[in-house]
Amino acid sequence: MKNIAILCSGGDVSGMNPALKRFVEYALEKNLTPYFVYDGYEGLIDNNIKEASYSDVSGIITRGGTKIGSARSSRFMQKKFRQCAKKNLDALDISLLIVLGGDGSFRGLDIFYKEHKIKFCGIPSTIDNDINGTDYCLGVDTALNIIKTSVDAIRDTASSFKRAFIIETMGRECGYLALITYITSGSELCLIPEKKYDLNTYEEDFKQQIKNGRRYFIVIASEGIQQESQEIADWFEEKIGIESRVSILGHIQRGGNPTVKDRVMAYKFVTQAIDALLEGVEEAIICYDRFGFNLKGIEEVVNNPHKLDRELIKLLK
Ligand code: ADP
Repeated sequence: MKNIAILCSGGDVSGMNPALKRFVEYALEKNLTPYFVYDGYEGLIDNNIKEASYSDVSGIITRGGTKIGSARSSRFMQKKFRQCAKKNLDALDISLLIVLGGDGSFRGLDIFYKEHKIKFCGIPSTIDNDINGTDYCLGVDTALNIIKTSVDAIRDTASSFKRAFIIETMGRECGYLALITYITSGSELCLIPEKKYDLNTYEEDFKQQIKNGRRYFIVIASEGIQQESQEIADWFEEKIGIESRVSILGHIQRGGNPTVKDRVMAYKFVTQAIDALLEGVEEAIICYDRFGFNLKGIEEVVNNPHKLDRELIKLLK
């Protein structure tokens, strides 16, 4: 029997727990012994690695976050600590590794592979959906649904009070969450880092809309845009003459129980990862694109910037 380990690294997402459940069940089905590495690369270094069983994953499929913890590890950036990680894996005879994380985590993993030949498969996991080579990252659908619920709720109060609400979503340099939210929430304006804008171009139109009876505006602003959300709210007050509020959704976007889509994607990502490792793949990222699931080389995934779908950007007014 071979030993296989899984860890979560970088920002956690909803969908990691369903992935852990599938990992244990499918590894056992394939006659592999599953191990959990707790707290990301920190756990590799500190030997916080434990054999996992069915009982470890019972009842976790409904929970956001990750039962085995995630972490950022500055120590893993140093060769001597990666050597320590390798020693810990060797002591448990673990030669296969699955990592749920973002491109930073994959970069670290690539270095680890080149130094120590630990075979790995990465599963793109970030609500930002900003990893090159994959159209879907685990956790995105749950985040979008949490945002949807929040925006729908804010709309109720915005309409009662005649207000403009600037709702700020996460995403770093990627406007995916904001753009999809805009399309699916019927909001009036969406601002993303991928598209330059000038608020003044909307002034006449928005004023006319108020004259025509509009009571409120919902603006979806991605965190990486050229202005602070408060500046946009100030613009609405000064130029459009409507009371304005900012709502920064923050970390609620990373929580919540995983949606059906994220549970299914977790199941499929992990199945693909284990199958690939059993077929002899040594270092790859499982991506999901228009061709379905496929394996991509780490260079392609981490060395190229992610680009938001042009067709989606065209939907912006
Ligand atoms: P994400 O995986 O979500 O992009 P980070 O960029 O914070 O998150 O990376 C997560 C972890 O991956 C880091 O804390 C570090 O332990 C590891 N890592 C990132 N880049 C490197 C690197 N160049 N060398 C070694 N480890 C790295």
